[in-house]
Amino acid sequence: MKEQDNCKIFQLDKQRILLVSFGQFEKKFLHKIAAAVQPVIGLPVDIESGYTDLSKYYDPARRQYDGNRLIHFIHSEYAFDKRKVIGLFQVDLFIPILTYIIGQAIYKGNAGVVSFFRLKNELYGLKKDDNLLFERFVKEIVHELGHTMGLIHCYSTICVMRSSTYIEDVDQKEAHFCSKCRQKLDEER
Ligand SMILES: [Zn+2]
Ligand SMILES: [Zn+2]
Repeated sequence: MKEQDNCKIFQLDKQRILLVSFGQFEKKFLHKIAAAVQPVIGLPVDIESGYTDLSKYYDPARRQYDGNRLIHFIHSEYAFDKRKVIGLFQVDLFIPILTYIIGQAIYKGNAGVVSFFRLKNELYGLKKDDNLLFERFVKEIVHELGHTMGLIHCYSTICVMRSSTYIEDVDQKEAHFCSKCRQKLDEER
């Protein structure tokens, strides 16, 4: 029994989260994001600036960037040593079956992407709101990390694992897991 517990602690010790930013993100903003994600996920969160030629992922017909290919890129370039890695983007992302995506992740995998393109008030003709943008971004990052940790969509209105198609959905939910998802998360670990 005791050995089993030790083993669990050892595994937790090794697991870290990495947020890799692509594009003009302010360092201060990224540190704030990491500090907000860390207590919800319960794992150390590192940040790093990523570099790639995003034009390789651009689809001129859709004028958007390919979310699936970007996930594969994140996975192959950054997801090693059991790290869970989320690529942070500013550009509009899509997958073939959807008009756009805010984010996406590999279920029980090590990689995901989130963009704040669709999270900005300005896109909807509303006044710029940096605090709101920050809150929305944190929720979507936690959401995608939840998928990498084995969580599926949740029907609780306020749970961070609730699916968000529209910005209103993002605002309705909170930046943490409901008790059911939290329990599942603990079991997965
Ligand atoms: Zn989801
Ligand atoms: Zn939930």
